[in-house]
Amino acid sequence: MTEVLVVELLGGLGDVLLALPSVVALSRTHGSPVDVVTFTPGDALLRHDPTVGSVFATSDHSEGAPRRFLEEVLARKRYDVIVSTTAYDGIGELCAASAPVSATSLWRGAPDGHLVDRRFLALLADDGVIAPAYADEPLRLVLTPDEAAAGEAALGDVRRPAVLVPGSGMPVKEWGGARFAALAAGLAGAGYDVLTAGLEVPAELAGLPRLPPGDLRHLAAVLAAVGTRGGVVVGGDTGPVRIAAAVGCRVVGLFGPTSAGRYGFSAATASNLQGWPGCPVRLPSAITEQECWWTGRCPYAPEPACLADLAVERVLAAAVGD
Ligand code: SF4
Repeated sequence: MTEVLVVELLGGLGDVLLALPSVVALSRTHGSPVDVVTFTPGDALLRHDPTVGSVFATSDHSEGAPRRFLEEVLARKRYDVIVSTTAYDGIGELCAASAPVSATSLWRGAPDGHLVDRRFLALLADDGVIAPAYADEPLRLVLTPDEAAAGEAALGDVRRPAVLVPGSGMPVKEWGGARFAALAAGLAGAGYDVLTAGLEVPAELAGLPRLPPGDLRHLAAVLAAVGTRGGVVVGGDTGPVRIAAAVGCRVVGLFGPTSAGRYGFSAATASNLQGWPGCPVRLPSAITEQECWWTGRCPYAPEPACLADLAVERVLAAAVGD
């Protein structure tokens, strides 16, 4: 059996899901489950996936700790193929030195318009690490029947849900409470039952019901139920929206500082809306070097000018499927 390892130590929930189609493609190509090294709590998203073998997860993000954790994993087991989305702290070189076959340069080139998870697959196919037949493996998160049933039950008698995800952990990526409130009114007028999700809910949305609480897998199951009821999830470039896309729910992504062409949701059920596409500050291929990303401030306006460019009417039309 070919032993395959994927190293995904970038840190966000969304990063795990960006790597997941590659995990599936590697498993299908080599005919064996793929081990994964990643962070908690995103490791939970891989549970019950038959293409995933052992998951080694750490919660220690401190300097040097992720590499030491990987070294411990590699000391316990030999791999024939190692793929890494992660290069910092010499992790890429460590992976390349630890297996006869490796792919550790998945961010090379990074052309705008090539979605990150699709780009990973294309590069793995170019490198001969996956079979071309699996180079367009869709993103999908596996739920057990019991989990799916629990998600349906938790959603109760909500008939046609619209779930708003206003927070992102980074204010420069957020559309703003007033716009979400106007969107909520429009969605209610279109017959949707509007709910909110996420840890941060702005005051303007405080009167709306919240999505039922639970852990990450329960969230995924509830979002799958939103999808089966003809619902929609609207939010920025953030984990819960990517989870919704991964369980087949229709999503509308609101992209400001991040490029929709790079970080947009690859699901066929996704609408990726880009605010101010021509902003000269945006660096689709080098987000961490982008001025507004590391300062957290837009140089053009008190709030992100790109997100202000996304009119409520445009988002509402995408959400109701016009
Ligand atoms: S500079 Fe402003 S308008 Fe441009 S991407 Fe950054 S936040 Fe958006």
